[in-house]
Amino acid sequence: MSAAQLKYREEPMAEIIDGRAVAKQVEAETKAQVDAMIAAGKPRPGLAVILVGNDPASEVYVGRKIKKCAEVGIRSFEHRMPADTSEPELLALIATLNEDPEIHGILCQVPLPKHIDTGLVLRAIAPSKDVDGFHPVNVGRLSTGTGGIIPCTPLGVMKLLDTVIDDLTGLDVVVIGKSNIVGKPIAMLMLEREATVTVTHIHTEKLADLCRQADVIIAAAGAPRLVRGYWVKPGAVIIDVGINRMKGEDGKTHIVGDVAFDEVQHAKAVTPVPGGVGPMTIACLLANTVQAAREQIDGTSSDGFDIDWDDLPDRSMFTSESAGA
Ligand code: NAD
Repeated sequence: MSAAQLKYREEPMAEIIDGRAVAKQVEAETKAQVDAMIAAGKPRPGLAVILVGNDPASEVYVGRKIKKCAEVGIRSFEHRMPADTSEPELLALIATLNEDPEIHGILCQVPLPKHIDTGLVLRAIAPSKDVDGFHPVNVGRLSTGTGGIIPCTPLGVMKLLDTVIDDLTGLDVVVIGKSNIVGKPIAMLMLEREATVTVTHIHTEKLADLCRQADVIIAAAGAPRLVRGYWVKPGAVIIDVGINRMKGEDGKTHIVGDVAFDEVQHAKAVTPVPGGVGPMTIACLLANTVQAAREQIDGTSSDGFDIDWDDLPDRSMFTSESAGA
């Protein structure tokens, strides 16, 4: 990592990246965008939140999202459905919301009850209203660098990194975890920024050795204290996405990350758990809703993958490398 790429500090201890503070900034920017839309006579952004069943954790998450919407001026529309809601009933609601001009974003809280096909439901949401960024059209856009809606947690990770690294070009990044909602989109975002990315997972051998080479480690495995101090080279930046519930010696349940936080003080910067990536996820959901609303209102959104092939930065990715040989 070159000195020019880091914002250096004097203190010897790792900088703790304050996710709550960065999330507040994102929320303030989002509120300013909503205010500007209203001042320009545009409709207020609207988010539909669907909750099927009464999973206690989901109830808490949905409640938080609705409260945050109100704080930044987004209208929220809560749709609570009983646990025995059928798949066709849920799909019918999504079809109605897809057509509703007051709704710019649709969020279906997961996990869904077992009798419902989650993939089918998430694919039924119009890509232009898919504020979670899980629809294959948005995944395809992200993978080809052609816009779309970026999943909230990966977007939050990038915003946190931006507070400590000016330029990711050429840096070695190790992503631990390859899930569709966290690891893979983070890897794509890193590649867009010209980083050299290694995506690792449960079957990766010599994970510690790979991490020791890394300028940036993104831990998204769901494995408590997986990343130990000796895995981290001095001056590396660590983003801990993991959320693990552990019983402490006091018998109480604590939330810990994937990083042994107390062992990585020789890092350049690290996110705490809680108070790191977590608060960014909701802030980015709000930002995505306003982005979706702006694009729908301005007529620049699309539910297909109707990209202009000639405008792509690198057409070689769509052609066989050996085609001209
Ligand atoms: P997942 O279970 O879908 O994927 C986990 C990935 O990590 C897999 O690719 C698996 O191979 C890999 N992995 C698991 N154990 C490993 C190990 N010991 N070594 C190397 N790789 C390992 O999980 P997910 O949905 O991607 O979430 C990952 C973590 O991030 C979880 O703790 C989750 O709670 C958390 N999370 C946090 C937020 C947030 O807002 N902060 C959002 C989403 C997920």
